[in-house]
Amino acid sequence: MYILIVDDSKSICGTLEKLISEELGYKTIVANDKHECEEKLLEYKGKIAVAILDLSLPDAPDGEVIDSVTKFNIPSIVLTGSEIREDILKDKDIVDYVIKEGRFAYEYILSLIKRIITTQNTKVIVANHSKEIASSAIKLLKRYRLSCFYAKDGQEVLDILKKVKDVKLVFTDYSMPNMNGLELTKKIRQSYSKDTLSIITITSTTEGNSLAKFLKFGANDFLYKTFSEEEFFAKLNSNLETLELFEEIKNKANKDYMTGMFNRRYFFDEGELLYQKAVKDNQKILVAMFDIDKFKNINDTYGHDIGDIAISEVAIIVNQFFNSDAIISRFGGEEFCVIQSNIDEVKFVATLEEIRKKFETNIINTEKGDIQYTVSVGYTSNKGKILDDMVNAADEGLYLAKNSGRNQVRTI
Ligand code: GH3
Ligand code: MG
Ligand code: MG
Repeated sequence: MYILIVDDSKSICGTLEKLISEELGYKTIVANDKHECEEKLLEYKGKIAVAILDLSLPDAPDGEVIDSVTKFNIPSIVLTGSEIREDILKDKDIVDYVIKEGRFAYEYILSLIKRIITTQNTKVIVANHSKEIASSAIKLLKRYRLSCFYAKDGQEVLDILKKVKDVKLVFTDYSMPNMNGLELTKKIRQSYSKDTLSIITITSTTEGNSLAKFLKFGANDFLYKTFSEEEFFAKLNSNLETLELFEEIKNKANKDYMTGMFNRRYFFDEGELLYQKAVKDNQKILVAMFDIDKFKNINDTYGHDIGDIAISEVAIIVNQFFNSDAIISRFGGEEFCVIQSNIDEVKFVATLEEIRKKFETNIINTEKGDIQYTVSVGYTSNKGKILDDMVNAADEGLYLAKNSGRNQVRTI
C-alpha cells in the first residue's frame, strides 16, 4: 500500500516522504502537479491507501486534483494555505484539510493517515427512523471509507448483526418503530460485550433521562443530535481507539508474541468451548500435534535466532492449510497444536499429510544459509472424557511418529 503525495513544493513532498516512511513505515509516491498525479493514479491503481493533496497546483489552482482522486475512491487529506477556501472545500469528498504552515500540520497529517488506514472498511451500523439523519452520519463515515449499513429500526440492526461478522460500531437513535434504541441496546448486550462492539446513542437534549438509561443498559457513548462534525469524528475515533486497545490487550494475553499464533491458554479456553459443543451436538472433532524433527540440530548448527525463524515458518505453513474455524496454537518450543470441529476426518488427515509433505521440500533462506527440516504429526478423533484426553492422545500419536522414524502422520 502506498501514500500518494501531490504538491508542487519539493520541500513539502520531501518532508512528508521522510516522515511517512520513518514514522509510519509506508511507501510513498510523489507527484508535483495534477497531470502527474493522474498518471500515478493509473499506474498504481488499487494500491494507494491515502492521498495528500495540495489544494492549489500549477495546473489545478482550484482543487481540481481532489476530483481526480475521488474518482478512484481514495480518501484524501487536503493541504491548504492559511486562507481557507471554504467555497471549494465544502463540496469535495475529503477526510479533512490541514493548513500547511501550522506548527502541528505534519503531526496531524500522520495521525490522520494512521486513522484512515486503521478504520478503513470497519463495519458500522447507523440506526435511525429518519433516513435523512442516518444519511448525514453515513456521509461522514464514508469519508473515512468505513463500511456502513443503514437500519430503520432496532430489529433491522439485530438482523444485520446476525448476517454481518465483525461489526464494530452501532449508532442508534432512541425512538424507532418495532424496537427502540433502548431495547436494542439491551438486546445487543446479551450477545456482544462493550469491548467488542461499541454503541453510540444519538439523543436530543430533551431526552435527558433516556441518556442515563442508555448508558446503564450498555451504551458506550452518546452524541447530541446537534453534533458538529468535529464532535462526531472525535467520538468515532475515541470509540474505535478504545476497541483497538481492548483488542491489543486481548492479543497480548491470548497470542504467542513470536509467531502470532494463539497460546496454550487460549487453546484450552476456546478449545474447551469447541469440545463441549462437539460432544453436545455429536459432531466430529479432531486434535493434531506438530513437532519439528531434530530441531535441536537447527539451534546447535545455526543458532537460536535461526531456530526462531524455523518455528515461525511452522506457524505460517500450518496457518495456510486451515481456515479460521480451526484454533492453531503454539504449545511451547517448536510444538503446535490444532483443534477443529465439524470436519470430515479423512479430509483433516489429508490436510495433515499435505502439511507434512510441504515441509519435505520447503527450503527457508536465512542469512546463515538455507535450512530445511521435516515435521512429525500426531492426531486423534477420539473424544475421550475431557479435552485434555484428546491432547494427550494426539501427543501419543506424535510420540509414535517420532519413534517410527519421524516425518510422518500417526494416530493411536
Ligand atoms: P525430535 O525430533 O525428537 O522432536 O527432536 P528435537 O531436537 O526437535 O527435540 P525437542 O522437540 O525436544 O526439541 C525442543 C528444543 O526446542 C529444545 C529447546 O532448546 C528448543 N526451543 C524451545 N523453545 C525455543 C524457542 O523459542 N526458540 C528456539 N530457537 N528454540 C527453542
Ligand atoms: Mg522436535
Ligand atoms: Mg518438541
